[in-house]
Amino acid sequence: MKKLLGLYLHVPFCMRKCFYCDFLSFTYADASSLEMYTRALALEIAQQGEIYGNRFIVNSVFLGGGTPSLLSAEQLARVLTALSRSFAVAGNCETTMEVNPGVLDERKIETALSLGVNRLSVGAQSFKDESLHTLGRIHTRADILTTCAAARRAGIGNINLDLMFAFPGQTLADWRYTLSEAMALGPEHISFYSLQLEEGTPLWAFVRNGALAETFEDTDREMYRFAVRTLADAGYERYEISNAARPGFRCRHNLKYWSLESYLGLGLGAHSYADGARFSNTEDLDAYIAAAGDTALLRAHEHVNTPFDDISEYMFLGLRRTEGVSEAAYRARFGEDIRARFSKEIERLTDESLLESSDGSLRLTELGVDMSNRVFVAFV
Ligand code: SF4
Repeated sequence: MKKLLGLYLHVPFCMRKCFYCDFLSFTYADASSLEMYTRALALEIAQQGEIYGNRFIVNSVFLGGGTPSLLSAEQLARVLTALSRSFAVAGNCETTMEVNPGVLDERKIETALSLGVNRLSVGAQSFKDESLHTLGRIHTRADILTTCAAARRAGIGNINLDLMFAFPGQTLADWRYTLSEAMALGPEHISFYSLQLEEGTPLWAFVRNGALAETFEDTDREMYRFAVRTLADAGYERYEISNAARPGFRCRHNLKYWSLESYLGLGLGAHSYADGARFSNTEDLDAYIAAAGDTALLRAHEHVNTPFDDISEYMFLGLRRTEGVSEAAYRARFGEDIRARFSKEIERLTDESLLESSDGSLRLTELGVDMSNRVFVAFV
């Protein structure tokens, strides 16, 4: 029987670099690099299709970035057509496109819809214009409303809003406002991440030179707990540390990452986990384009997981999910008892009130969510 596969397609261009960003993305300079990149990406899709296309059925696709909504309607069509020609795509495939408010028009949404995109992930981050300015985002609150309204008009029935909290200068009142504005738009899914200040970014420099104050850890946690309560009261189920959805709208693609299921990352610097190996592409844009989809040329790193690598990743990724790690699912996958392998770790973390066990599953406690890194390292 064919196995299921997720596909991640990376588009590494943005209108401008946000002040906190250290993702693999470049300021969009000219139309020709985007065009060359799209051609190379379509070639890589075709080549990977020859390797994996007959063995897997794709049931989730995620176009991420960067800003995939920078692609023209024609480029979007080229990439998604290459995908449907090269892979067997399930009829109910969840196909997500990340969009940045202000970088999407109705024609593109309609093209995307006609090519199978059925979920938009909108990089809203904040609904306060002042905060958006601090973060170096190119959009305003009004752009978020316009983008979501256009998506709904076009018939998109599954929208995620990405929100950010605990960034320098943000108050609890700001965060409350952003959450209430987000929920007023009625998205099916909300991702809410605490900002990690990355060394070398402009935002990090603002904090270092005293122009902005870093958020205290207890404020960060207060903001997180406020979001968890508010989203639950509004009918969103938190199913992962930083993700909540209305019933039936959990992100199938991202759940693959947390469940150690197979996915292929295509595009610049994209990471994959398939056939028990982790591998990634070059982060050099010129080299990626010159490779013209040749996997031997664009591969930068490969590691075949040992059995323990898989066990360890299954544990620390799975514990991110609110449902935790099922002991029966662990036994079915690895043919051993979870408590036989990790008895000391489970006992210690339970004594420290970081881990709890019920209904045959291990999961993080509320304190465990706050100190999740401490839990995860115990399984590495
Ligand atoms: S839109 Fe996303 S990827 Fe692009 S610069 Fe901003 S944070 Fe980075």
